[in-house]
Amino acid sequence: MILIDGKKQSAELREELKQEVEGLKQKHNKVPGLTVILIGDLAPSQIYVRNKEKSAKQVGLKSEVIKYPDTVDEKTVLNKIEELNKDETVSGILVQLPLPKHINKQHVIETISPHKDVDGLHPMNVGNLSSGYQGSIPCTPLGCYYLLKKIEPNLTGKKAVMIGRSNLNGKAMAQLLLQEDCTVTITHSKTKDLQHECSEADVIVAAVGIPELIKGDWVKKDAIVIDVGINKTENGIVGDVNFEEVSKVAKALTPVPGGVGPMTIACLLKNTIECFKRSLIN
Ligand code: NAP
Repeated sequence: MILIDGKKQSAELREELKQEVEGLKQKHNKVPGLTVILIGDLAPSQIYVRNKEKSAKQVGLKSEVIKYPDTVDEKTVLNKIEELNKDETVSGILVQLPLPKHINKQHVIETISPHKDVDGLHPMNVGNLSSGYQGSIPCTPLGCYYLLKKIEPNLTGKKAVMIGRSNLNGKAMAQLLLQEDCTVTITHSKTKDLQHECSEADVIVAAVGIPELIKGDWVKKDAIVIDVGINKTENGIVGDVNFEEVSKVAKALTPVPGGVGPMTIACLLKNTIECFKRSLIN
């Protein structure tokens, strides 16, 4: 079984990005900038944002974090986003989710300029992805895509099962698999026989949020399995896939932690650089 090493691949991608940023700096005398807005003091969000800031600086991006207390009103946040939309030194804007209840997520997503939407959640970028046009692709599915392509460069005709249909993960990943000419089945909480769907798949991507949902006898021999799930349990962090069981049948599998997670941040940096490059053309 091939253990898909997300840490290693993320480090390789970040090294490539670092060199690309250096080249952009020499050519244009400026570097891409990433601004993250963090609202409230949720511990996981604080850790994610700190890691994003650190990684952005490591590859040479201009990085800024704007913090608000969770009592901030929506208008203040939307006004700040409008300001950042106009700021030429800002290539990418990310508002860390989840948001406090009184702030409408959709208002926030739609206020970020689609040209600076490094999370790929703006409806224009969602449409671009499903139409096969250029635009930002959500970071986690993009990371899964890189990991998958490294293991299997030719996915044409493969039967792929996406478990989960969130905008952030499942729907975007299903589009990427479709673009690779996979035959894609999207499953969710109302799917009648998930085990049966999985048992026919050459590729399984799980983004559910249920610890070790996918068992060894659900998986076809030599399938490739990408585990997006991050679940806190008494035994520590586990994925949506029962690693011990599935590793005995799969051809390749991502561990949790150390699989998809590290790729997400690298892809955020990649998206920021891509937004910067597109801004030079437009
Ligand atoms: P989400 O928005 O809660 O979506 C979960 C999806 O799973 C939904 O579509 C839901 O179906 C489906 N689902 C729930 N129970 C199911 C079941 N028994 N069988 C089949 N499908 C079922 O979650 P998300 O934001 O996509 O995140 C999913 C997981 O990925 C979480 O563990 C999260 O922490 C993790 N995550 C990891 C990264 C990373 O960087 N590795 C990034 C983001 C998220 P319905 O639509 O019918 O409700």
